[in-house]
Amino acid sequence: MAFDCYCALCGVGFCGMHIEAPSETATERRRRWIEKRCRALQAGRDIGQVSEGEETEDPVRSYDPRIVGWDNISWLYKAHCLGWNESAPAGTSKAFISDEGYYADSGELVVKARSDRDRPRSQRVFSCYGHGSEEAPGPVLPFHWCCFEILTRTLTGASDTENVNMDVLYNVMTPLCNMSSSALQLSYGNDVERAQGRYWECIPGAEYCATHPTNTPGIDEYIQTALETNSGLKTSSAELNLRGRDPTSPFGRLPLEIVYQICMFLPGDAVKALGQASLSIHLVTQDNLFWKKFMQRDMPWLWELQGAKSRKIPQDVNFKRLYMWLNRITAPRYGMDDVKLIGVANRRRIWGVCEELADRYHESLPQPTVSG
Ligand SMILES: [Zn+2]
Repeated sequence: MAFDCYCALCGVGFCGMHIEAPSETATERRRRWIEKRCRALQAGRDIGQVSEGEETEDPVRSYDPRIVGWDNISWLYKAHCLGWNESAPAGTSKAFISDEGYYADSGELVVKARSDRDRPRSQRVFSCYGHGSEEAPGPVLPFHWCCFEILTRTLTGASDTENVNMDVLYNVMTPLCNMSSSALQLSYGNDVERAQGRYWECIPGAEYCATHPTNTPGIDEYIQTALETNSGLKTSSAELNLRGRDPTSPFGRLPLEIVYQICMFLPGDAVKALGQASLSIHLVTQDNLFWKKFMQRDMPWLWELQGAKSRKIPQDVNFKRLYMWLNRITAPRYGMDDVKLIGVANRRRIWGVCEELADRYHESLPQPTVSG
């Protein structure tokens, strides 16, 4: 039986990406299609609940040519896999990463062997998620290379893929698949899970899921322009007039440094909500330095901001507002259509999946032996 398998890290397929031919009628039909589903989501319904009866038009089953093109979608067709080689020499890693290949069908990943006279076989065929094949017993886990690069950053904090302990990684990933899997049991997001049928479905409005997550040239300029021109990011927080009030919440009894540390480990929305409820928290989180640090900790996937020492951040930028703004514009959501933002939104989504794996990976990593 023919079927698709999906990337273990981002959950998206390796083939079957359809982009609609540009035309005005198609664009208009697509707009109505997405609008209807956005309304359903706002009303707390699922997109899948927009029933056939409500539909007067033929279904749209392709991506928007104004948002995606082959340049930012072709990365999906290049597949690698993580497998296990029982006969690897002692002392070396048994888990291995295959060369680049492509997804054939029915769970099979084909990797053309490099031209090597010692190797008579011209290609190697791996069996994704299932029983394994002659090439590798046990499941192999397919992925896109840039998804693996994102995973490497979540696991090691740096970009060198050589520093990943492949054996540990393989052993934390395989328990998340079963015989009938076509992806791992991880939270890839609603828009991806809806598309993971027997075949990948190109859901209009979910283009961001298929957009290149690391090659995102537009975001730098987008942020820089906003920093310079968006006055909403500059207004400083209104000074709070305590009018003799004394903070009395439980946080008020803790040393400021502890409250600061607690806030640092909360999600952004929680810090904001807590700041509204507790005067102590509000006071601690008033300064720019707090939000600057908070942003670095909470948005590791936004490496344009992390590493950009050269970025000219105007003196009068309010970092709390900057954080809230970035958090909002990069949040993956159905119906996103800004080409400068969809790649980063996808990266943020994939980072979340990789973090689930990173927690398990760090728990399983052999503890370094302390010497001397
Ligand atoms: Zn992927």
